[in-house]
Order: sequence, then C-alpha cells, then structure tokens
Amino acid sequence: MIETKGYATNSPAAQFEPYNFERRELGPSDILIDILYCGICHSDIHQAKNEWKDTMPTTYPLVPGHEIVGRVSQVGDAVTKFHVGDIAGIGCFVDSCRVCPSCTAGLQQFCVKQAAFTYNGTEMDRVTRTYGGYSKKYVIDEGYALKVRSDQDLAGVAPLLCAGITTFSPLRRFNVGPGQKVGIVGLGGLGHMGVKLAAAMGAEVTVFSTSPGKEADALALGAQHFVVTRDPANLAPLEGTFNFILDTVSADHDLSVYLRMLGLRGVMVVVGVPETPAAIHSTSLIFGNKSLAGSLIGGIPETQEMLDFCAEHGLTADVEVITPDRIEEAYDRTVKGDVHYRFVIDTATI
Ligand code: NAP
Ligand code: ZN
Ligand code: ZN
Repeated sequence: MIETKGYATNSPAAQFEPYNFERRELGPSDILIDILYCGICHSDIHQAKNEWKDTMPTTYPLVPGHEIVGRVSQVGDAVTKFHVGDIAGIGCFVDSCRVCPSCTAGLQQFCVKQAAFTYNGTEMDRVTRTYGGYSKKYVIDEGYALKVRSDQDLAGVAPLLCAGITTFSPLRRFNVGPGQKVGIVGLGGLGHMGVKLAAAMGAEVTVFSTSPGKEADALALGAQHFVVTRDPANLAPLEGTFNFILDTVSADHDLSVYLRMLGLRGVMVVVGVPETPAAIHSTSLIFGNKSLAGSLIGGIPETQEMLDFCAEHGLTADVEVITPDRIEEAYDRTVKGDVHYRFVIDTATI
C-alpha cells in the first residue's frame, strides 16, 4: 500500500485534523498523482456537516475534495494516456462499472451501479472507502483521470474539475450562445465559472446575487448586468426576459422567483443542492411552457472537452489559495457567501 497524509473531519461539528491513510498499490492501468491543489466545493461542506443525511449520508472520517490537480509520479505497466511528469486532474468520481449504457455513453456519473465517488463513497468493490483530494496522493485508473495542460495557473484549474464541468455541461446541453439572455443565480464557486463560461460562449449574462458587493466582480468576470435579489423591485422589470437561467444557490430559496424571469419556453437548470426540498406551484411552469431541469457534474469525455475549452479560452477559476490549517475559516466564509471565488488548498503544505 502507498502511505499518504490528508485532512479529515470526524463529525459534523468537528475540526479538520491531519489524517494518515493508504492508497492502493498501482494496478496495470493506474496512475499515482502527487496532488498539487484541491478546490473547496460547497458539496464538501454539505457532506462534512452531513447536510445530505437523507440522500447521501456521510461516513467519517471524511477526507473531502473532488477538484484535484496534480503531477503524475508513477504509471502502471499498461498506461498509455499519461507519462510521469504530466499534469492530471481528478473530478467527482474515480471509477464506474464501465459497461452499462451510461458508462458506454460517457456519462459515468449516472452509472447504473453507481459511480465510485472520489470521497464519501467506495471503490467499485463496494468495500474500499474513498478519500478525497485534501491529501497528498491519489491512485486512479487512467481512464478516469483528465489531461491538464501544464502552461496554466494550476490552482485556478483545480476548481474546473467540479465547478467548471457542473456549469459547462448544462450550458452546452441547452445550446447557450450568442443572442441569448442567460441568468446565473448565486455568484460563488459554480456561479463565477457559469458567468465566465456563458460569456465565452457568447451569451448576454446577468448575475442574480444576494451580495451587492459582488457587482464589480460580476462585470469583470464577463457579466453585462448585475441584479441584487434582496429587493423585489429590482426583479419585476426582468420578468419573462430570459432564455436560460442556471441556479447555483447552495441554501434554501424560492425557485419561483427565477422561473418568473424566464420567457416563453425558457429553461431553468438547478445545480445547487440545498438541504430542504424546494416547492414550486405548477403554474410557474405551465404559463410560458417553461422547463425546470437538473444537472449533475459531467462524464469523462465532456469534462475533458470543458478543460480543453477553458485552456483555449484562457479560463481558470478566481482562487484564494490557502494552507490546510485554514479549512474551517474557508468553510465559514464560503457559507457566508464571502468567497472570491473558490478556496483552493495548496496540498504541498499538508
Ligand atoms: P458557493 O461557492 O458557496 O456559492 C453559492 C452561492 O449561492 C453563494 O456565493 C451566494 O451567492 C449564493 N447564496 C448562498 N446562500 C444564499 C441564500 N441564502 N440565498 C440566496 N443565495 C445564496 O457554493 P458552490 O460550491 O458554488 O456550490 C453551489 C451549490 O451547488 C452547492 O449546493 C453544491 O453542493 C452544489 N453542487 C452541485 C453540483 C452538481 O453536479 N449539481 C456540483 C457541485 C456543487 P451570492 O452572494 O451571489 O448570493
Ligand atoms: Zn463539487
Ligand atoms: Zn456503469
């Protein structure tokens, strides 16, 4: 086994502490990644605090982290995609059954046997627990690792592995592009990537935010308009004017407010996962033939397409790089919306 070190939490209220554990020895198609950076996704916080106890309960000790970028330091005998020294990424899952219709379609996140999630899950043997990227090393089958161009700001690339693909995938699925009015709700980790990506795809972007102080950032990220949602008077004139809205909010809120912003046949996609189920009246959808959809990360081919798109367009996340002793502070600030716009752990300091 390969010894490694990470940061784990032992209960919803506990602090993160150093934690020693093991990764498997490399099989023929495995690579060993020395992790350089790992982003802090709000999903890490939901799970560290066991906020998804009804759908995805947390098993402790928990080493979160699924926005991972690192350097390949060892490769198995049959590996062809990576060489020692390459930069590689790991997103939200590290394996799947490989043969079901979802897997063969490149939508491994919907594997009928359930993908092996990067942390708070198990490998496909359904016994070996997975630990995430708040750690120094990861062993992964090369087919589930992503290729990352080394000439980029690698701390800023790490969040693309979740925040990037989670926003890219629905924008692509609904053909967002020039001539379309797109709303991004919530300017956090996902939201700020949604703004950058939708703008790069040519859409006219409006940010809906609860934080008036984020206006200048929203415009600098590529939005044309910024709306403070706390005052309903700001929203009324915008009703019926959007083609597409992406809702990235992590906390409980009223979806009907944004469904009203959609025009005829408008589409709203939710990617945020608040603790409590949302309630909407069916008339919010019926009038205007509107659609409400969900989206879960993306499969391996689309994640690679997103990384390549970002590299071509010079897009990375705006990050605040921290040492692991500041994880709690980063969690507190993220929950308060005080994140600009992703905390990333410098794992070399673990
Ligand atoms: P984040 O960085 O914390 O951003 C969330 C943003 O939502 C905040 O910055 C804030 O933006 C807004 N917000 C927070 N509390 C709010 C409230 N009470 N009312 C209205 N707006 C509020 O979180 P994230 O990492 O982007 O993740 C967002 C959500 O997506 C989380 O629930 C996460 O679990 C989920 N997620 C889903 C997927 C998927 O595949 N579907 C993947 C990754 C993450 P403003 O200050 O601008 O209002
Ligand atoms: Zn995530
Ligand atoms: Zn499968």
